[in-house]
Amino acid sequence: MRFISVNKKAGSVIAEYYPGELTGRKITEVNPRLLDSRYYEDLLKAFDGKLIIRDKVKSSVSEQYYKHNYIPLQNMAGEVYAVMTISHDITDSVRQLEQLTKLAESDKLKSDFIKMASHELKTPVTSIKGYVQLVLSALHKNEEEKQLSPSLIKLSLANIDKQINRLTRLLSELLDLSKIETGKLELNREVFNLNELVIDTVQDVLYSDTRHTINIFHDFGCNIYGDKDRIGQVLINLLTNAVKYSPGSDKIEVWVKQAKKGKVSVSIKDYGIGIAKKYQSKIFERFYRVEEKIEQTFPGFGIGLFLAKEIVEQHDGNIHFTSEKDKGSTFTFTLPIAG
Ligand code: ADP
Repeated sequence: MRFISVNKKAGSVIAEYYPGELTGRKITEVNPRLLDSRYYEDLLKAFDGKLIIRDKVKSSVSEQYYKHNYIPLQNMAGEVYAVMTISHDITDSVRQLEQLTKLAESDKLKSDFIKMASHELKTPVTSIKGYVQLVLSALHKNEEEKQLSPSLIKLSLANIDKQINRLTRLLSELLDLSKIETGKLELNREVFNLNELVIDTVQDVLYSDTRHTINIFHDFGCNIYGDKDRIGQVLINLLTNAVKYSPGSDKIEVWVKQAKKGKVSVSIKDYGIGIAKKYQSKIFERFYRVEEKIEQTFPGFGIGLFLAKEIVEQHDGNIHFTSEKDKGSTFTFTLPIAG
């Protein structure tokens, strides 16, 4: 396996990484690491008389992609006396294909999003319409029969109010997303007490969710210099997710703890459906929702965690989580402590 002859281009590419004269040298001497590589296996197969074509091989020493052909050269007796290796640098076409794939993916993401957004917005609107029609027909009846149940009106208005809140939340998430995309999410910073904000936000969440108990553990108390409303929004997003994705449990825990290097951490732990390993790397992505049938019944745009991450990172903090399917999740964000 010695180089017999090397054309100019191959010579110059190889010389970049393995300098010196090639002709006459063993290829394993030029690059000893070859011995363990697939390239070497392919060469051996070619010496056995097989024509080998490898379509897309990433170089082990650079960012280039190659198409390799190993062509056995035979003498009159049919014996292989040499192998000709032809390599085409296909990096440009691989990159182009990658870009096209990315574009196609983002196109699909957009159309999936429009489908999901229409559904998410339609659901509360349909429900509001239903209750309005119910009250209207009760009013009509009342004109004829002179009776109108106040409890029916109260129930309908309460449901309408709930659905309007849901719509408002969805729309403000969309608005925030477009602010982030155009770089217009501005922070109104002030010094505030994080522990008080946690208590207030938990109370707000409990106001609309009566099923869960949320216990707060203040292991550490501190002030933050940041946008109080936006940090409140991060807390709301994480708490409402904890509520939303734990239909079968009634317990949520919140910890405020001292973290490393002048930082404070807030963790929100639920005992809900959890997130399977294979989805975990994606959940902070814009529009991403776990694709298991059960999630489709939970309302949402797949924007909440993306917003939370953006807001926390704009405050020089970070956000992460641990989760186990069917056991629950713990989302934690850290922020620098004020002063
Ligand atoms: P949304 O809740 O609107 O779908 P998010 O961006 O808040 O969007 O969350 C993205 C996805 O991450 C959710 O669709 C859900 O699948 C998963 N997820 C988020 N929080 C939790 C949680 N506490 N438990 C289980 N899954 C979660």
